[in-house]
Amino acid sequence: MGKPTGFLEYPRELPVVRAPKERLKDWLEFHGHGEEELLRKQAARCMDCGIPFCHTGKLIGGMASGCPINNLIPEWNDLVYRGLWREALERLHKTNNFPEFTGRVCPAPCEGSCVLGISEPPVTIKNIECSIIDRAFEEGWVVPEPPEKRTGKKVAVVGSGPAGLACAAQLNRAGHWVTVYERADRIGGLLMYGIPNMKLDKRIVQRRVDLLAAEGVRFITNCEVGTDIPAQQLREEYDAIVLCGGATLPRDLKIEGRHLKGIHFAMEFLGRNTKALLDHNGQLPETIPGPSTNGEFISARGKDVIVIGGGDTGTDCVGTALRHGCKSLVQFEILPKPPVERAPDNPWPQWPKIYRLDYGQEEAAAIFGQDPRVYCIQTKKFVGDEKGHVKEAHTVQIEWVNDNGRFVPKEIPGTEKVYPCQLVLLAMGFLGPENPVLDQLGVERDARSNAKAEYGVYATNVPGVFAAGDMRRGQSLVVWAINEGREAARECDRYLMGTTDLP
Ligand SMILES: Cc1cc2nc3c(=O)[nH]c(=O)nc-3n(C[C@H](O)[C@H](O)[C@H](O)COP(=O)(O)OP(=O)(O)OC[C@H]3O[C@@H](n4cnc5c(N)ncnc54)[C@H](O)[C@@H]3O)c2cc1C
Ligand code: SF4
Repeated sequence: MGKPTGFLEYPRELPVVRAPKERLKDWLEFHGHGEEELLRKQAARCMDCGIPFCHTGKLIGGMASGCPINNLIPEWNDLVYRGLWREALERLHKTNNFPEFTGRVCPAPCEGSCVLGISEPPVTIKNIECSIIDRAFEEGWVVPEPPEKRTGKKVAVVGSGPAGLACAAQLNRAGHWVTVYERADRIGGLLMYGIPNMKLDKRIVQRRVDLLAAEGVRFITNCEVGTDIPAQQLREEYDAIVLCGGATLPRDLKIEGRHLKGIHFAMEFLGRNTKALLDHNGQLPETIPGPSTNGEFISARGKDVIVIGGGDTGTDCVGTALRHGCKSLVQFEILPKPPVERAPDNPWPQWPKIYRLDYGQEEAAAIFGQDPRVYCIQTKKFVGDEKGHVKEAHTVQIEWVNDNGRFVPKEIPGTEKVYPCQLVLLAMGFLGPENPVLDQLGVERDARSNAKAEYGVYATNVPGVFAAGDMRRGQSLVVWAINEGREAARECDRYLMGTTDLP
């Protein structure tokens, strides 16, 4: 423990992020970087607890409590406090292949279970993690480390999101020849085409992909296994297969008027936006008049936008629509507004279910004067104009009532409202995997249509075929995908070699 009295002396302090009105002018990351002195003080706040709940990574009430990849947080906090950055990097890389991703996009369940958080604001763990890895790249400490020996075994990884990349990194480290298949034109899964650039710069994703390639991982893009090549071909060419294809089948809103033009799934909006940015050197082409007109991306410029869904995906739609220059913006959330502080039934060290102003809502508030979210609202129907384009969303307020132990929505009479809109983005979550590879391989599904494989084991019913990440657990978090990719690699290595040294 660096400084026993650190938590008494220094308040929690994060680096200043770029001001909302400023960052809305571009697509660059909004995170700030702290000076070394600030980071050392923040690391000194860590109490090096006897039981560091921050790195336990348990599920409590369905939510992560502590770090799902068991990052050795108190150890690297101490090293940062003492200025031993390279040693801190070594500790960090022991448990996390990609701290530059989690350090930017993780919701930080570690901070929700930090012991200091019982009485004071928690340690700025996520920011310290990001600072360690960013500094390491700046110093040139992160270099390709190909394995010294090769086993001669070949493994195919299907899908290049964080689960597939972590799995590939670990299997390659164990000396196997790994080929990653990706149906998109760029590697990274939702790191590339889901999470927008302002949260995670795509150059940072590509930098890690280049490192993996230099270590010997082979990447094949524009290739959907099960469509472009039969899944059986992988069975014949490889000794094992790890399925990391994600869970990107979107939940639909099947109400009157859903067929109207201008109503899109969030991922269509976000993915095409990022692709257009990448294809045009970080700038959107100026002359895009409206949705689907040139097929390149869906523009929100000058439109009244409604985002349906209050989660991460919805927030990313808010941030993206604002950068396009939308005329107005509201975000519908069917659940009630969370409390400002933990409710009695949500005690520490559970993930705090509290009201948060995420980056998108903060930006909307800076432009339109208020948080764009409307709570306890249900969309009843969409109405279109004479050209078949959406022009209105009809809504009603609801309350959640207890129906024999189950909370169900009940409409409140007299609260009907009509919202004008020319663009509606559906961000209501995901139902499961959406591709033919599972059926072609004969992989059994669980009750939620995900690939059936036990957590910690990852073997499917088909010998030599493993499943990890969102494809196994359903749409989740980057940090869980990394956790599952690493562990699936360990089990795959055990299957191939009879024993394993992978963590
Ligand atoms: C808009 C959005 C924002 C998010 N923001 C956050 C956030 O801020 N923080 C956070 O922690 N999590 C966030 N998430 C969740 C997180 O991105 C996912 O949980 C994580 O990416 C899952 O990783 P994965 O590797 O399992 O799957 P994915 O990242 O979905 O990658 C799967 C890849 O497999 C490819 N694929 C699928 N089938 C095939 C096939 N048959 N052949 C070849 N390739 C195939 C897909 O094209 C895709 O690239 C967000 C999700 C979305 C949608
Ligand atoms: S990966 Fe997430 S939970 Fe783990 S230390 Fe980093 S921010 Fe915290």
